[in-house]
Amino acid sequence: MIQLSAAIQRIQPSATLGVSARAAALKAQGRDIVSLSVGEPDFPVPDSARKAAIAAIEAGNNHYTAVEGTPALRRAIADKFARDNGLSFTPEDIIVSTGGKQVIFNAMIATVGAGDEVVMPAPYWVSYPDMVALAGGTPVPVPTRAAEGYKMSADALEAAITPACRWLILNSPSNPTGAVYTAGELAAFADVLRRHPQVWVLSDDMYEHIRYGTAPFATMAAVAPDLAERTLTVNGASKAFAMTGWRIGFAGGPRELIKAMVKAQSQSTSNACAIAQAACVGALTGDMGFLAERAAVFRARRDMVVARLGTMPGLTCPTPEGAFYVFPECAGLIGRRTAAGQVLASDEDVAGWLLDNGVAVVHGAAFGHSPAFRVSYATDTASLTTAMDRIEAAIATLD
Ligand code: PLP
Repeated sequence: MIQLSAAIQRIQPSATLGVSARAAALKAQGRDIVSLSVGEPDFPVPDSARKAAIAAIEAGNNHYTAVEGTPALRRAIADKFARDNGLSFTPEDIIVSTGGKQVIFNAMIATVGAGDEVVMPAPYWVSYPDMVALAGGTPVPVPTRAAEGYKMSADALEAAITPACRWLILNSPSNPTGAVYTAGELAAFADVLRRHPQVWVLSDDMYEHIRYGTAPFATMAAVAPDLAERTLTVNGASKAFAMTGWRIGFAGGPRELIKAMVKAQSQSTSNACAIAQAACVGALTGDMGFLAERAAVFRARRDMVVARLGTMPGLTCPTPEGAFYVFPECAGLIGRRTAAGQVLASDEDVAGWLLDNGVAVVHGAAFGHSPAFRVSYATDTASLTTAMDRIEAAIATLD
């Protein structure tokens, strides 16, 4: 039998990818499943990106690029950070990776080791703790409450930071809760961080363009320019441009950190796909009018899903301010008996029972908050309505 490394034994497979694969397998067997488990927009890739990709193929762009990304893409990313976020980077301060996921992975593997702690508000994106653990570090989740919109307070941040803390990971808008931090809230975190110069900030801004409030988007390096020298600002093409399968993520940050991340990437995947990089230049320099239109569509779906879940007995559902997820707590379903005679003991049981009832969601434990589950509303309204009908009907059958 193969002997597995201590590192791989410390981590779990991605729960979101696992549920999506289970839902797909059931569908392939002919089962009627509405999958609300995936984190990908159901919109087409922008014309600007498709045309740039086709041109790159026709031009024979078949070769390795620089590990850190093509000069054209890093220039376009620097321009994006200046235009959208007021951040000043040169292309040397930027890395392009195979998805936002690899950007964050590179950062953790390049900086975190045994004894290091990484603070993150919980619920958190599934992959953060496992990436930290794979690097040898210890994730430090800071619990938040639904009643407070799943937002961490500055006091809770202060209490979580020890001398061993290396990073704070912030994700706004948040996957899985949709919580969005205001500039004022980030400024309060910055005040805490100024007292702890050993702590760096990873600002995961993947859902920047999917927001429903009127306040401008806030990111740490812009809110607290004095902390920019220890902030990594992460973004990518997956969510904004509906390019999840093209695998382009990027980050801007202090050059020494970027260099270390490029070094890690040079010994794993080398560069991100050359054609996808060309496509991303097209997307970042092309028309972006569709972003606001898509946010409006997501908003209408959010309103519908929150209104429906909000009336279902056993669920508590705060209204998210961004991303395309809602994260209802389901304490009122725990301990209830299903029509098949199973007592729902955990949110994993709830998710399994909902799957039996034709709806795939991801259990809250995967995001470090129970009992709850995550619903992705990045799917068409008819499917969402069917899913809400099924959840409501299933709850009505509980003892
Ligand atoms: N960060 C967050 C919060 C995400 O939700 C995701 C994807 O689900 C990522 C990063 C990674 O994105 P990518 O698909 O570009 O690797």
